[in-house]
Amino acid sequence: MTQTSHPVIAPGSTIGILGGGQLGRMTALAAAQMGYRCHIFCPEAGSPAFAVAETHTQAAYDDNDALDAFAADVDVVTFEFENIPAASVARLAAQTLVRPSWKVLETAQDRVLEKTFFTEIGAPTAPWRPVNDITTLNAAIAELGTPCILKTRHLGYDGKGQIRINHPDEAATAWTSIAEAPAILEGVVSFSREISAIVARSPRGEVNTFDIAENAHVNHILDTTRVPAQISQEQAERAAAIAHHAAVSLNLQGILAIEMFVSHDGRILVNEMAPRPHNSGHWTMDACITGQFEQFIRAICNLRLGSSERHSNAEMKNLLGHSIDGWAEILSDPKTKLHLYGKTEPRDGRKMGHVTRIFPRWKNEAK
Ligand code: AMP
Repeated sequence: MTQTSHPVIAPGSTIGILGGGQLGRMTALAAAQMGYRCHIFCPEAGSPAFAVAETHTQAAYDDNDALDAFAADVDVVTFEFENIPAASVARLAAQTLVRPSWKVLETAQDRVLEKTFFTEIGAPTAPWRPVNDITTLNAAIAELGTPCILKTRHLGYDGKGQIRINHPDEAATAWTSIAEAPAILEGVVSFSREISAIVARSPRGEVNTFDIAENAHVNHILDTTRVPAQISQEQAERAAAIAHHAAVSLNLQGILAIEMFVSHDGRILVNEMAPRPHNSGHWTMDACITGQFEQFIRAICNLRLGSSERHSNAEMKNLLGHSIDGWAEILSDPKTKLHLYGKTEPRDGRKMGHVTRIFPRWKNEAK
């Protein structure tokens, strides 16, 4: 591993971020704290990250002129969400460093490639089959049984693009409801908990995993993350080992979140991954020595990683829609940390901010 193949991006350099949502905003804030400039590339006017970055480009992800100008201005490119067109990433990679690599993004964009990857590295998942048409769907239902879940291969998030099938008769309706898009069929996991592991790996090969968090979803959207997860030490170690192994196998240069199920019979099954900072890792900002956004910056810049040691227990709650109107009451608890994303329209279900309640551990340990 030579220095030339894995350059260090020193403070003072410019980090280009594809995507301008809250993850881009918090990444840019962490970057600024470490002396970097950020250039955000995002098609939507008034994106939350624009307000906290030195430069932004408001252009479509397939605007080649805008992409070329962006590449010329930055020292490294990363992304804060997965659904960036492959051709655009390839175009940027031909001109500047892109971390994580396109290969990692491609795997995370496609549920079949993702499940294939986890199966190949020996990480357990729900039983699954690729689905390309009604014939393969019927065959997959016959093999996996019902209930099962049909999910589009691409562009699914927060429960979008997926439908539960309770009886084989529902196959045709389910297939129409996902617009006959290439898909994956998964067996329904009987789970007691949902957890996530967040791991960072730098180009120089350092790997660092945060403590396992436990997630509760409401209407398919993350509602609350609690740390520590109420699982056994052995289960936590297994989940962390899967994340570590995945990061090394992907040759990850950045940060990776892996969502997993803890089944009723105690197994840890991988659901999906996101090669970027993750909503279920927001607690790390306030409860760890190094938060996920700072760790992300350190990883993509090939700096030494920070300690992910957790100094506090934490409970992170998303603030959706008008729930941010309760900000004053939230602040009446002095051990809460309020993070608002600067979004102006509090639409129903829109992530407007989050609040993390901190339970310091030192009080117990001092005794
Ligand atoms: P996803 O879009 O894959 O993250 O799925 C959204 C949510 O649907 C997950 O957080 C789970 O609560 C549920 N879910 C997804 N896949 C499965 C599965 N195979 N078995 C049971 N529940 C699932």
